[in-house]
Amino acid sequence: MHPETLAIYQNRVTDANAGAVAPPISLSTTFERDADGAFPHGHVYARTSNPNRDALEAALAALEGGFAGLAFSSGQAATMTLLLGLRPGDHVVIGDDAYHGTPALLEELFHPWGLTYTRADFTNLDAIRASIHENTRLVWIETPSNPLLKIADIQAIADLAHEAGAWCACDNTWATPILQRPLDLGCDVVMHSTTKYIGGHSDVLSGALVFKEDGEFYQRVRRYQTLGGAVAAPFDCWMLLRGIKTLTTRVRAQSATALQLAEFLDRHPAVEAVYYPGLETHPGYEIAQKQMTMFGAMLSVQIKDGAEAAMAVAGHVQLFTRATSLGGVESLIEHRASVEGPTTRTPQNLLRISVGLEHADDLIADLEQALFHAKSL
Ligand SMILES: *Cc1c(COP(=O)(O)O)cnc(C)c1O
Repeated sequence: MHPETLAIYQNRVTDANAGAVAPPISLSTTFERDADGAFPHGHVYARTSNPNRDALEAALAALEGGFAGLAFSSGQAATMTLLLGLRPGDHVVIGDDAYHGTPALLEELFHPWGLTYTRADFTNLDAIRASIHENTRLVWIETPSNPLLKIADIQAIADLAHEAGAWCACDNTWATPILQRPLDLGCDVVMHSTTKYIGGHSDVLSGALVFKEDGEFYQRVRRYQTLGGAVAAPFDCWMLLRGIKTLTTRVRAQSATALQLAEFLDRHPAVEAVYYPGLETHPGYEIAQKQMTMFGAMLSVQIKDGAEAAMAVAGHVQLFTRATSLGGVESLIEHRASVEGPTTRTPQNLLRISVGLEHADDLIADLEQALFHAKSL
């Protein structure tokens, strides 16, 4: 089935009581037993499972082409629970341009716990190979990366990981399963901040993992989801399933608009550099073309004349909301370095843009008038 169909079909309700087309929200924390002690509906207690979470986990697994999904209360909770599935003494290899929260977890939470990690340039296979040690158990890909939109070759990196006896995970938040399916390209697990495109309306904080197959690693992480309890709430699962119904259409429309914005910015005299993998001049263009169906709705831009000029542009947009995050229907713009704080590696003149569902011409006109203020400084 095509993703459009999967998003609807996987999402169909079987509400035996009312025949409701939209699913009910099951708020119950506990589930009734039969006289003989069995649980006829398959649920015992809501931390272990709940009907809305089951439906969401099945839909995510179907979209990513995986064996099973696990839904969490945030993207970070999903990443944390996956890393807990490793053992003290294990080593992780991660991109030098990964979402800042992922290396922060490795450094602040897991380093004291006994994990070590190495950051490498994930556009360079030799650099990754050199970073893999005997005790490497996980290679963590994020592509397109954040905020520089670097493209990593998923298939090649998954092969490197497997040659070394390590698992390969991919943070697929920015691409979504509509644009890129890492499990088909050899990864063992996909992570999502479903807060972003899957929710799609900037109103649910949540995360997910999808495993390619059953096995010791999946079973351990599934167990830790229940034990740790950072699960997605029933209402959040319901909202995410609602978001999934329009995911395909939203992501394709947003990606088409993003390409137009990238082309406009690339020609603009006040712009120093545009990072968008759909531009033929982008160093990752060929790999992106190979592994993605479209190039996504995120782009970053460096403004000439430094941080103040970049702030002036962000200060003068009218249609874009100045806020962090991404993946919603409304376009956002942010000065990334100040969001990431003092440890940031992001250039000070960089603005990150999340393209929403507004008309491309209106967004371009807004950027054009805002860029005028960069030049007049
Ligand atoms: C937002 C984000 C995360 C973290 O997810 P939360 O839902 O905020 O916990 C992880 N990876 C990427 C690429 C993200 O954009």
